[in-house]
Amino acid sequence: MRFLIYSGALLFLIEKLAYADNCGSLSDCYGTIQSATGVGVGIAVMVMTGILMDFFRGEGETEAASRPETKPTLPLDFSPFQPSEGLATYAAPEKQFAQPKVFDALREIGEKWQEAGHGDPIEVGDMSYEDGRPMPAGKDRTGKELFHSAHREGVDVDIRPGRKAGTIGPILDYKTSPNYDRENTQAIVDIIQSRPDVETILFNDKQIEGVKPWSGHNNHLHVRFKK
Ligand SMILES: [Zn+2]
Repeated sequence: MRFLIYSGALLFLIEKLAYADNCGSLSDCYGTIQSATGVGVGIAVMVMTGILMDFFRGEGETEAASRPETKPTLPLDFSPFQPSEGLATYAAPEKQFAQPKVFDALREIGEKWQEAGHGDPIEVGDMSYEDGRPMPAGKDRTGKELFHSAHREGVDVDIRPGRKAGTIGPILDYKTSPNYDRENTQAIVDIIQSRPDVETILFNDKQIEGVKPWSGHNNHLHVRFKK
């Protein structure tokens, strides 16, 4: 998928370079790079920059390309997250509001996780703002701000994939992170999926059972509870 995106960008670039006198903010880029080889190198550098920016962008979601205008439909009776047994947090407190029943569920999930003898706690991230306003999810590679397409109704909880014991920090991409632990991730998913109040879990590792693939979900599980 990512390859296709970059290929698309490449075709677009090549077209622009071939037919335009300048390249907008990259003005003179074609005039100063005289040879086809030079253009090739330029493109390669840009593609690499894109890949590197992807890598360093961090844990934000990218499922929404622009600010969603829809309003939450439920009355907002959110409460703040309180850490409990088997749970830890990796997001700012103002982004961790949810419906009280979601916190009941998380508490039970954490207890089950702890009882099963797993060492490191399950790490929870973005949920909703107290007033349900759109939640930023980092920037794209042009610097444009992205927003979560969900996370407004107090029923969405981002969760870090399982990490290898003793490691810390984010899993930037399950495909490349040396800290990613598939077995731990499956154990987290199993506990969550066993609940009747869970609607869906989004994550892109096809070897994990019980999740659905979704753009922007190589670095976290997105759990949606039933409204
Ligand atoms: Zn999410």
